[in-house]
Amino acid sequence: MAGPSTATRDLHLAEPHDQVARNEHGPWFQKIALSFDGGGVRGYWSLLVLQHLMLVIREIETNQDGTTRSSFHPCEKPDNVSHLPNLLNQTSYTPFLPCHYFDYIGGTSTGALIAILLSKFRMTVEDCLREYEDMARVIFGHPRLIHRMNALMPRNKYSMKILEKAIKEVIDRRVQVRIEDDTDPLFQTEIDTCRGIVLATQLVEGRVVAKRFLFRSYTPYSEKKRKNAQATDNFLLNNPHEGIRTSLLKVALAGTAAPFYFGHYHTVLSTAQVQAAKRVQTDLSRVETEPGRRKGKLHVPEGKSSYEFQDAGFSRANNPCHELYREIQSHHGDNVPVLVSIGTARRKESFVGEGAVATIKRGFHQLGDPEEVHGLMEGEGVRGSCVYYRLNDEDGINVDMDEWKPKKVGSITITTMRTKFNEWLEKDGVEDKFKECAKHLVRLRRIRMTTPRWERFALGQYFVCQVQNCPKDRDNQWLDRVDFENHLKREHREEDYRGDLESVLNTCRRILVYRSRRPS
Ligand SMILES: [Zn+2]
Repeated sequence: MAGPSTATRDLHLAEPHDQVARNEHGPWFQKIALSFDGGGVRGYWSLLVLQHLMLVIREIETNQDGTTRSSFHPCEKPDNVSHLPNLLNQTSYTPFLPCHYFDYIGGTSTGALIAILLSKFRMTVEDCLREYEDMARVIFGHPRLIHRMNALMPRNKYSMKILEKAIKEVIDRRVQVRIEDDTDPLFQTEIDTCRGIVLATQLVEGRVVAKRFLFRSYTPYSEKKRKNAQATDNFLLNNPHEGIRTSLLKVALAGTAAPFYFGHYHTVLSTAQVQAAKRVQTDLSRVETEPGRRKGKLHVPEGKSSYEFQDAGFSRANNPCHELYREIQSHHGDNVPVLVSIGTARRKESFVGEGAVATIKRGFHQLGDPEEVHGLMEGEGVRGSCVYYRLNDEDGINVDMDEWKPKKVGSITITTMRTKFNEWLEKDGVEDKFKECAKHLVRLRRIRMTTPRWERFALGQYFVCQVQNCPKDRDNQWLDRVDFENHLKREHREEDYRGDLESVLNTCRRILVYRSRRPS
């Protein structure tokens, strides 16, 4: 299929209008978010949590309706969703994708990588685990021989180059075919599908000031709210005009640049977003006069500015759940979101020792404590402003954030995390928490799947008119079936499509195309 990438990008800028028009009704009104703490290698433990959640979800889904074979249901599962061979016979395989249960998936540090894999690449948890293992093997399996955890001689323990190479390889393997022409694809998700958020820390004024910086896979404001908030220029949102339409690689590196481990990440971002936002408004007024037309033609002027980032894991934002909550609130108002927050089984520890290294470590450890945000979220839950599930082993496991034993393969570390995870599952009340959360998520999905918007959300489906004598541009796209049907009925004569609406719909229908696995 030809990759209409330029058209797709333009389409994204028209998103605020669509969101306002389409989202504030019915089962799509309440937003559902998944949040990942940062924790280095222990991100693998987080994935084990998610895998178990998806297995419980699968059980509930299939018990409710035996014909449900995947979370695409009632849509058919596309090809190449998984790159893993012969998984269908394994009990752990879950063709129930997180991107079908969550509107937002966000994370920081290695949680940022997980958020990207799940939202942008729309992967199964099993594929995610495999990619994670491969990345950890490359990154943590190659520490530099000479390094010191010392503020005076900050040679980082791992090479940013190796991190970059590992991330690049995942992008090449997993980015959807639709944007195959892009050598440097963006961290951008399709309108009305699962959105991704990466939380980083931006260092400004010679590192004196550190502020939270959100990379979003979508345009971060609604036009309605923008108009109401002209004076204050964007109310609650962090960096609403920056970090949009950024390359996926940059986002991943900014989100994972852990101090002492990889060092800070310097990069250049486009600063054209303010102008772009202003242009959307004028462009949308035109869109409104042409129902069904969703594509805006925008020229985004080039402007660039230099930025310095580090992983937000070494700050209170190490648990990004509250940032996600704020983000949803400021976009969607009072919709009582459902938030699922997954921890990394970080142990509570006190670093003993007097030296400078111990002091620095202790300082960062306290800063990165996820429990403070957890307490905050619990408070929100009690007040009824959200529904909050926290899945985390609060006692923690004895695995350092860069432990990877033995060095090349990491098999001992992986086994430790799996064993500890299974032990945690056996504890009182843990399984019940999974069940309660899974039931809730299944209930919401099964209501959503009965609406016309499900096809778009589940498959990234859109329509491109192939009928002769079409008055619209060749690259025009319709996001939902009803709009496209109306286009056919109103703007074509019946003899154009020979009266066979159904087969024309099938010919003009497109979905996100998963990249096929390369022969190894
Ligand atoms: Zn047409």
